[in-house]
Amino acid sequence: MTKQQLRAIARKHGTPVVVIDHDIIRRNYAEFRRHLPKVQAYYAVKANPAPEIVRTLYRAGASFDVASLPEFMLVCENIKGLSPKAQQDFIWDKIIYANPTKPKETLDVLDRYRPLVTYDNVNELDKIKRYAPHAGVVLRLRVPNTGSMVELSSKFGCDAGEAVDLVLAAFRVGLVVEGLSFHVGSQCTNFENFVQALNMAAAVMSESRSRGHALKILDIGGGFPAAYNRHVRPFSALARKINAEIARLFPDDIEIIAEPGRFLVATAATAVSRVIGKAVRDGKTCYYIDDSVYHTYSGIIFDHCQYPVKAFKRGHTEICAVFGQTCDGLDVLSQAEELPDLAIGDLVYSENIGAYSNASSTWFNGFPPAKVVHVNQ
Ligand SMILES: *Cc1c(COP(=O)(O)O)cnc(C)c1O
Repeated sequence: MTKQQLRAIARKHGTPVVVIDHDIIRRNYAEFRRHLPKVQAYYAVKANPAPEIVRTLYRAGASFDVASLPEFMLVCENIKGLSPKAQQDFIWDKIIYANPTKPKETLDVLDRYRPLVTYDNVNELDKIKRYAPHAGVVLRLRVPNTGSMVELSSKFGCDAGEAVDLVLAAFRVGLVVEGLSFHVGSQCTNFENFVQALNMAAAVMSESRSRGHALKILDIGGGFPAAYNRHVRPFSALARKINAEIARLFPDDIEIIAEPGRFLVATAATAVSRVIGKAVRDGKTCYYIDDSVYHTYSGIIFDHCQYPVKAFKRGHTEICAVFGQTCDGLDVLSQAEELPDLAIGDLVYSENIGAYSNASSTWFNGFPPAKVVHVNQ
């Protein structure tokens, strides 16, 4: 998106506005497939659940990772060609329900789709057996999340030492364990996490095989880092490591899937907002904009992510603070942003804000979520 295009969209649609460029989503998906050709990508819908994105990725060949019943239904409704009957055959190829904890009411509805669902403890297994006996199950392993921007290992995954017992427990109650999954933590820039996780999964698979249960699916999860800045090492370097470990550790006929969320959508969106207030505090210029951490910038709080705020205007810059529109003191976008002298009404923007951003927007303080504009659909 050129600055001119962004300004034109803000003029036409008003602010705050989030512009999602589907060319970039398709490019990210193609890059994922090019570097990990043996891995089917299941887009993690929670990163950005816009139905337009689901449709674009489905057309490109992606499958989907969902973590709630509404996400499951959203995907079903947006992937064409899946009649209720076809769903019986194709559902695993297109959807995995990867939230290890599921309400029993959800399992009850999911059961008629014969879904693929994850678990990481015996209580969940009992629930699946009782409410979704037709599901295939995937055991989620707990793996190191060292250095990842968002850590998941304290909430999800069984320890390696109990994994084989959990596989056996599932078969004992008549469920079929189809595979193993893990998540190395979101925005994982420490590639060793993937290496260690793959080695742990290989050990569990091999012991499971020796106990009479060969598992068919390896789900390497999400965590693939988006190129937020030049410090993020290229995806190709990570993919080389993953491919080498997979070739070394797993049989050729294993089916490998992944659940990229952020990697596919983060770089596809730009938020444009407007300066609505300006003050000087302790000698520092403070700008107030018509978006907030309760809205498009929610990732600052929930995703531990920073989005530099940039001006369209040029000129001598100084360090400023940028605050959101709400009346909450937590609503700080940045205490140190390099900006030129801006006037009320001027536009500002933030790039790479497509993941975990407007997805968790609220109506706090009465301000509605930003409008979303899709381009190059
Ligand atoms: C959130 C999530 C993902 C996506 O993670 P990213 O870091 O955005 O790639 C994948 N799988 C599961 C189970 C998740 O919870």
